Amino acid sequence: MGNPFVKVNLKKLGHNIKVVNELCNKMGIEIFGVTKVFCARKEICSVMIENGINTLADSRIKNLEKIRDLNCKRVLLRIPCLSEAKEVVLNCDISLNSEIETIKALDNEAKKENIVHNIILMIDLGDLREGILPEDILTVVEEVLKLKNINLKGIGTNLTCYGGIIPDNENLSKLTEIKSELEEKFKITLSIVSGGNSSSLYKVFDNSMIKGINNLRLGESLLLGKETAFGEDIKGCFTDVFTLNAEVIELKSKSSMPKGKIGRDAFGNIPCFEDKGIMNRAIVNLGKQDVRVEGISPKDKDIEVLGASSDHLILNLSKSNKNYKLGDTIEFNMDYGALLQSMTSEYIDIKYVVE
Ligand SMILES: *Cc1c(COP(=O)(O)O)cnc(C)c1O
Repeated sequence: MGNPFVKVNLKKLGHNIKVVNELCNKMGIEIFGVTKVFCARKEICSVMIENGINTLADSRIKNLEKIRDLNCKRVLLRIPCLSEAKEVVLNCDISLNSEIETIKALDNEAKKENIVHNIILMIDLGDLREGILPEDILTVVEEVLKLKNINLKGIGTNLTCYGGIIPDNENLSKLTEIKSELEEKFKITLSIVSGGNSSSLYKVFDNSMIKGINNLRLGESLLLGKETAFGEDIKGCFTDVFTLNAEVIELKSKSSMPKGKIGRDAFGNIPCFEDKGIMNRAIVNLGKQDVRVEGISPKDKDIEVLGASSDHLILNLSKSNKNYKLGDTIEFNMDYGALLQSMTSEYIDIKYVVE
């Protein structure tokens, strides 16, 4: 012990995945389970597979390598580096792409291995992260179709990531229009039309998904029980699959006002304080080196987070009616950013529970 830990409730997670997956399948939508937030840890990947997801997707090859033995297809989410073409064709069944030069490199490596590599072409529909611009898609596809060891499996888009653009009827029907145009012009079949990430899910819930969108790439919604276009909780899903747990290492009544001349805090800021009298204060073994403190909130709503330095988190327990003791564990909910950091930190342990 001595480390804070993330508690992962695999049973609640399985429930979330089942709920969302069944709903999507009913509407003809296949889910790619996105594993990057939890670094593709096998315990969690297995829960995705057990609950009906056949394809796992990650932005890093290092993570996809970890799950080569699992019974699933593997997708590379982040468009590949030119320099990793070989690793991509060896470790991924499908990769998302937007650069013809990189696709040619993939073709070249696939040829050496005597395999055919599947790609999904990403189209930028306004969010301005990755993707070919719609006006360039015909030229790119024409080039792609000349490559013998590349199979154009489908098209996709990514929204609400950089530009904050919400998936709507306009941008999503643009995607299905492009699909039809490509199929007609080049006499091909595109089996995947991937309509985005967890921010597209609200269109499944309100039954307004554009016909023809048959794939979504979902991470956050399954893990945190939230859709991400509007930040709403998903009905029937758990929002506390992951919690961060830290131990009380100091517990004292102290003033709410620091004493002495105020200079700068550990991060160079000049702090200011309000005098709230004597407080029942706790320090737990967690800090800015572990997690973005703004992204965590105590499960006990009566606990107030006062502040943090690199490795101390200071709490006000005065309003809580629980009788905390030294050595007790305080549990925090996490947002996406905090989850990402805590699953990646070498200072935070992970505990799996199934009840
Ligand atoms: C991370 C990522 C996703 C998953 O996003 P969530 O919001 O976690 O559902 C989907 N597609 C791409 C390309 C990604 O990078």
